Amino acid sequence: MSTRKPIIAANWKMNQTPTESKAFLEKFLPKFPESTPVDIVIAPAFLSMPMAAAQIVPSKSVDLSAQNMSAEPSGAFTGEVSAAMLKEVGTKYVILGHSERRSIFGEDDATINAKVKATLDNGFQPILCIGESLEEREGGKLEEVLRSQINGSLADVTAEQMANVVIAYEPVWAIGTGVTASPEQAQEAHAFVRGLLKDLFNEEVAAATRIQYGGSVKPGNAGELIALEDIDGFLVGGASLDPDSFGEIVQAGIAHVS
Ligand code: PEP
Repeated sequence: MSTRKPIIAANWKMNQTPTESKAFLEKFLPKFPESTPVDIVIAPAFLSMPMAAAQIVPSKSVDLSAQNMSAEPSGAFTGEVSAAMLKEVGTKYVILGHSERRSIFGEDDATINAKVKATLDNGFQPILCIGESLEEREGGKLEEVLRSQINGSLADVTAEQMANVVIAYEPVWAIGTGVTASPEQAQEAHAFVRGLLKDLFNEEVAAATRIQYGGSVKPGNAGELIALEDIDGFLVGGASLDPDSFGEIVQAGIAHVS
């Protein structure tokens, strides 16, 4: 078994109002009152972050994440959220390059790279999302897409900084669709991404970097996926909105390492 500590993160997207976030955490946090052998992360919407932080930051078991961050420190950027704002609420992680940011909001690897560097400069740990569309996979472009996303998003990031970077491999065709990558497809892609990290940095970085799987993870498939050699946790959308189902996914991670 690898020495990488699994990291299981809830991406709530544009769901859970501040009041709903509070209700979720009132049910979820008592399930994990002490620190666990997996890192548990919750990424609420920006407006729900202060309410969630009041419960998460004092907890011993869960860390707070943002779903995005501006690469700019401050200024005339209507609708954006800065590093200083995220620091003040106690954010540890920032999800970047999610496929919804890429496809709906037009973020490319250069934009994401600027954000990755800004999060690292500000002491956050980016959760960098990569993944291919169905068209790209069926067109034989899986490796080309993953290589250009990794090389583009991590340009100018140092091997030392990689200690604070988490990668989330999320095949776009599996996000929110109910279709999960098969264990073979997931393991193959994760091993390929680890190879890319070796090429871009070195063997130590490749061995130490945590690579999450994301795409229709549920309590029913989490145990099988977390057992795969190169899968170090999950980024969970739909199934993270219910405290019981997200709790069961976390339990699958804990069972795997215990
Ligand atoms: C996601 O949005 O990161 C995700 C993996 O969503 P879902 O679990 O709903 O497929």
